[in-house]
Amino acid sequence: MSAFAEVTERKGSRTRKRRVAMEPARAPRAVEPSVSPRERLPYLLDLYPLESPTQTRLAPFFDALREGRFVTTRCRKDGKVLWPPRIVCPACHSGELEWVDLPTTGRIYAFSALLAGAPIGQEAELPLVVGLVELDGSPLRLFGRFLGIDWRECRIGLPVAFEALTLPDGRAYFAFRVKP
Ligand SMILES: [Zn+2]
Repeated sequence: MSAFAEVTERKGSRTRKRRVAMEPARAPRAVEPSVSPRERLPYLLDLYPLESPTQTRLAPFFDALREGRFVTTRCRKDGKVLWPPRIVCPACHSGELEWVDLPTTGRIYAFSALLAGAPIGQEAELPLVVGLVELDGSPLRLFGRFLGIDWRECRIGLPVAFEALTLPDGRAYFAFRVKP
């Protein structure tokens, strides 16, 4: 079935109406949701970002996490190691970035305990400990969640190690495990 639309063409001071055939609308292609329906949240309330290559140019970061690797982007022009991973260097605006491995150990630089008001989906995990990690041999300080420590025992300077994690829906994220 084809439909027609009437378009008005203008040439100098003259106008002319013409009928043109319209392409029938195509149904959108079905895309697998990245979150299971039970856990689907409005995007802004979802703590974990969309991770597939059709949704982000940072998909290699999540692919690396699934392999247990911790990576970020480095600018090929000025050598700056960027966190979080970027598609454009914020210093020189170059789009020529490469993926590099990050150190997987560091020390707690600052922390805070979350005793109430957990993010959606993490209510059962309270209390949570979150904070900044100073990576070994890197100027980067990364925010993350600390695992394996009671918040009352947490201290600045404790050694931690990167840990790749998989969510029930298959998505990847990471945390830092406090070393015993
Ligand atoms: Zn740069």
